[in-house]
Amino acid sequence: MKILIKNATVIKDVKTAPFKGDILINNDIIEQIEENISTPETDRIIDAAGMIAIPGFIQTHVHLAQTIFRNMAEDVSLLDWLNRYILPFESQHTAKTLYDSARLGIAELLLSGTTTIQDMETVLHTDASFKAVYEMGIRASMGNMLMDTGNDILAKNIDFLMAESETLYKKWNDTDNGRIKYVLTPRFALSCTKELFLEIRKMSDIYDIPVHSHAAENIEETKIVKQQTGYGNIEYFEKLGLCNEKLRLAHCIWLNDYEYDILKSNGVNVLHCPTANFKLGSGTAKIPEMLTKGINVSLGADGPPCNNNLNIFNEMKLAGLIQKVRLGPESMNAKEIFRLATAGGAKALGMEKEIGTLEIGKKADITILKPNVHSLFYDENSIFNSIIYSMNRDNVTYTIVDGNILVDNGILRSADIQSIIREAELSHNHFNPI
Ligand SMILES: [Zn+2]
Repeated sequence: MKILIKNATVIKDVKTAPFKGDILINNDIIEQIEENISTPETDRIIDAAGMIAIPGFIQTHVHLAQTIFRNMAEDVSLLDWLNRYILPFESQHTAKTLYDSARLGIAELLLSGTTTIQDMETVLHTDASFKAVYEMGIRASMGNMLMDTGNDILAKNIDFLMAESETLYKKWNDTDNGRIKYVLTPRFALSCTKELFLEIRKMSDIYDIPVHSHAAENIEETKIVKQQTGYGNIEYFEKLGLCNEKLRLAHCIWLNDYEYDILKSNGVNVLHCPTANFKLGSGTAKIPEMLTKGINVSLGADGPPCNNNLNIFNEMKLAGLIQKVRLGPESMNAKEIFRLATAGGAKALGMEKEIGTLEIGKKADITILKPNVHSLFYDENSIFNSIIYSMNRDNVTYTIVDGNILVDNGILRSADIQSIIREAELSHNHFNPI
């Protein structure tokens, strides 16, 4: 299938000046980007005059399993949020409720211009979330939650967890043209024994599977990690042999100076979730300092019950604002934030050769934004400021993943939105209030 996007303002990456032009997609690949492409044979022409074509947004830390718990765990800090609400809720999931939760989250993500996610599921039934991702077309790296301590109902023994991981890896990794990838996902240091972490490292080494976890999100959590292990959270992961370019860690707020060096020297990727960090009162990650050190940083919304959206525009804007308060207005500009939400995400997922920028030969993962009354841009100099500080999900007009138009003129095409809402409401009734 050939799709021609005509007359857009094209942002290929943050290094290239935006320009008026066309993009030709051939199946899943960007075949041409030129000022004017005239091709006699296309299956679809999108007239994007007045619109902006950008690399699809990448969110490197979300929890589709938690979408259905949105607005049900309020005004508490991380450990209470987990122990009083999220872990008991997750333990009540069935395959059906997990599938409905994932579909609700994916619909929101696609409608707000996110083309790729890294997702952390729950302990059981993760096959249902893979199925939702497969059906709805979003690009995803994801895995079942690994935890063998910290909650009697949700935690499982190591043999069960690793067998489930191997089954899911063999069934789903690199499926559907490489769109879906399996990732090992230990919840965090407090829910995994040392023995489990060592099994995870072993499986990561054998199959070359990345590891996605949380680290140093909350000061109390970080103190308990120190009490239990004798180390800071990142130091502990280094001692376990987990720190390398395949490690992706959400938050990284409460680190000592040595731990920043560990992140840098081992190429560990930081997944920054500013809204969740503020909503749980966790703290502010030192993102500009990390970037200065050369640590790769990307963005994510985290779970809907600690956000309460999966909207990349919220994350981009807040990522900028909180650093301006902390370090001054020049601390991180809009272009840099745009890079974190696109190329930074691609690097975190080890996919910088495939996604994150618009280039000939890369995957056709493209978001098209239509400025409106609250977000006009007048020239190329203001375009990044408009996207980060003025635009929102109502500007998202097309979302294209792997050459498939999943949101078409603002309408979700890869699933029926009314049935997603209806089934999510029914599934929500399954959960007993805590
Ligand atoms: Zn999280």
